[in-house]
Order: sequence, then C-alpha cells, then structure tokens
Amino acid sequence: MGRYTGPVCKLCRREGQKLFLKGTKCYTEKCPVERRSYPPGQHGVAQTRRRKMSDYALQLREKQKVKRMYGVGEQYFRNLFRAASQHGGMTGENLLVSLESRLDNIVYRLGFAGSRAQARQLVRHRHVEVNGRPVDIPSYQVQPGDEVRLKEKSRDLLPVQVSLESKTRPDTVSWLALDEGTRAGRMLERPSRDEIPLPVQEQLIVELYSK
Ligand code: SF4
Repeated sequence: MGRYTGPVCKLCRREGQKLFLKGTKCYTEKCPVERRSYPPGQHGVAQTRRRKMSDYALQLREKQKVKRMYGVGEQYFRNLFRAASQHGGMTGENLLVSLESRLDNIVYRLGFAGSRAQARQLVRHRHVEVNGRPVDIPSYQVQPGDEVRLKEKSRDLLPVQVSLESKTRPDTVSWLALDEGTRAGRMLERPSRDEIPLPVQEQLIVELYSK
C-alpha cells in the first residue's frame, strides 16, 4: 500500500492526540484536535461514548500512531520491527531508536523542517548531505558521528528559515549537536529511550507483533 496522502489532521483526530504532522499550525489553537477532540466521520462522536477498548485495539492504535508520526508504511515498519527484535536489548526501544535515526527524522529534530513530511521532502529533493555527500533516501540510517548538513545553496530556503526561527520548533535533543549558522548537525550518540521525547507505549507494539 502506498503512503497516505490524505488530510493529516484526520490522523491525529483518529488517534485522539496531536501527532504534530503539520508544522507550526500544530502549536496554535487552529489545531483540529484542540477544537474537535473526537474521531473524524459521521460516527466520530458516538465512538467516544463506546465501551472500553480491547487489548488488541489498544495495541493496534499504538502501532498506527507511531507509523503515522514517522510517516512510514506497514511493510517497512514490520521489517524494522523484525530487525529490532534480532538485536540485543529491548525490542521496543530498538525500534524507536531505528525510527529516530532515519535521515528525515534527524533533519526534523535539527529544526531544518517544521514536520517530518517537510523534512522528507528536503531529503528527496537533494538538499541534504551526510558526511559531505548528497543523500536523497529519507529512511537512510544516520550513525553516531555522522554529520548532516544542508547543501550550501539550500541553507536559506524559506521553509528552513521559517522552521529555524519558529519558537515552536521541537526542542533540540541532547544526542544531536546543531550549528545553526552553517546549518549542520551531528549525531553524537544513539539515543536511549529516555532521550526520545515521544508519548508512546512501545511495549504495546511489541505485544501486537508477538502474537
Ligand atoms: Fe495534528 Fe498538527 Fe493537524 Fe493538530 S494541526 S491535528 S497536531 S497535524
């Protein structure tokens, strides 16, 4: 199945929380989750009155939420989960670390884009270099020590400036170092779970895929 290209605010309303898919609008009172905190569609209000969700439904919703936050498809997500389960340590944490190490996510976390979708576009359009070489693969796994920078001619693109100057851009994380002047950042180390600011219960995803 292809990537979802419909209205993204519906996805947040479906999950009942902000997934921050639209950049600066997400931080204003125009955010639909703030104004209509029930699922979209004709039966949305009725759904909020239904009985408690089953364990399976909770696990499924958590998985969908994470996929939607990072804008990735089911097959890719499954493959990433399989790889995460083959590493040592906690599978859920490994999964989140792999998602956080994606090049589009790093560009977003460094503040060069207002959303992961915008970051993906910057990468796809070859505005981003890793260790001095252009990389146009959003899922590229950035390694500790790698330098991620915008190409010289892309540094002053309007969306980049707007994002960097935005007071609402995501807090810089401690495992990335940013040099705003040269539009360059470096991954210092792989993050631990505590250093990934995501309201996610990854254990539910592990339970879902372990059935
Ligand atoms: Fe989600 Fe942002 Fe739309 Fe709010 S404005 S519903 S957080 S995408």
